[in-house]
Amino acid sequence: MKTRAALLYDVGLPQPYENSRPLHIEEVELAAPGANEVLVRIRAAGLCHSDLSVINGDRPRPTPMAIGHEAAGTVEALGEGVTDLRIGEHVVLVFMPSCGHCLPCATGRPALCEPGALANGAGTLLGGGRRMTQGGNSINHHLGCSAFSDYAVVSRRSLVAIDDRVEFEHAALFGCAVLTGMGAVLNTAGIEAGASVAVVGLGGVGFSSVLAALAAGAGQVIAIDRVPSKLSLAKAIGASHVFDASAPDVIERVREASSGGVDYAFEMAGAIAALDCAYRITRRGGVTVTAGLANPAALWPLQAVSLVAEERTVKGSYIGSCVPTRDLPRYVSLFLQGRLPVDKLLSERIALTAINAGFDRLARGEGIRQVVMMDTP
Ligand SMILES: [Zn+2]
Ligand SMILES: [Zn+2]
Repeated sequence: MKTRAALLYDVGLPQPYENSRPLHIEEVELAAPGANEVLVRIRAAGLCHSDLSVINGDRPRPTPMAIGHEAAGTVEALGEGVTDLRIGEHVVLVFMPSCGHCLPCATGRPALCEPGALANGAGTLLGGGRRMTQGGNSINHHLGCSAFSDYAVVSRRSLVAIDDRVEFEHAALFGCAVLTGMGAVLNTAGIEAGASVAVVGLGGVGFSSVLAALAAGAGQVIAIDRVPSKLSLAKAIGASHVFDASAPDVIERVREASSGGVDYAFEMAGAIAALDCAYRITRRGGVTVTAGLANPAALWPLQAVSLVAEERTVKGSYIGSCVPTRDLPRYVSLFLQGRLPVDKLLSERIALTAINAGFDRLARGEGIRQVVMMDTP
């Protein structure tokens, strides 16, 4: 069958992307799902910083690539061997497929699935194949999803079925922003009720961490960003304090507000300055979690003795250390109960044809999450 997809041929084109147009909306040939694969009609797909990192070259991936990895849609066709999904069921795409058999999967850490990481790096589905072609040439998949498309074929292990009462525009956000941001708080850090929490960087992931900290009963939730409108929104959803990340005394002010630093600080910006800020605002004995993807060449200078003398912990968190089939339905349930207002993350709905300008807004830090609505002409 034919489908539209957002294809990236050239990495590192200059901004604004509205002029350089790194993403081409083109028709491609989509093969039928192979064994253990599913054809999904994509209904909504979010613009994430990890897409931008591929477009600007921070995260090298093979091209041409059909990008997009945060999406929701409906099951249209089942490949051989898929018996636990039905046609029409609502699904969220998960950008890290897990094989279920490798050592990380067997030890409850599917975020570190080894075949999944290899497939994502190579631009294939988990089973090793590519299902999109153009003029006979294979197109690489982005994180097993290629979600800025009307239709996508993905591995069964890249999908989680969800409650169909959730609108697609909200469901999409659960696949990356919510799993990553909530999981960092609930799985990687495992915060206790009453703990003090700070989040540095308020994109979709950082906002999800703020929501998770509030839902988990954190005693103090401090939100830090450079953009005033994001700080206002954080305050409106319940953050106890907000601070401008560009203020020269931000570290002192957070330490003062939290009586010497927070129990848990989360770096959600993918920048060394944000990681350094998160570490410095963590109290003695506290935990610093980093979930932003920094440029591979970036190094972080750390006062080594502080780890020992202050019993500090630094933890990395990939896709929120989540077990998606366990965690996604839990988070969706909290949303449906009104205890996790993920809808507050949605700042703009756009058409697929307007995606390059959308990435300009993302690069400028405007809004929280823009979502491509596939039905929008
Ligand atoms: Zn993402
Ligand atoms: Zn695995």
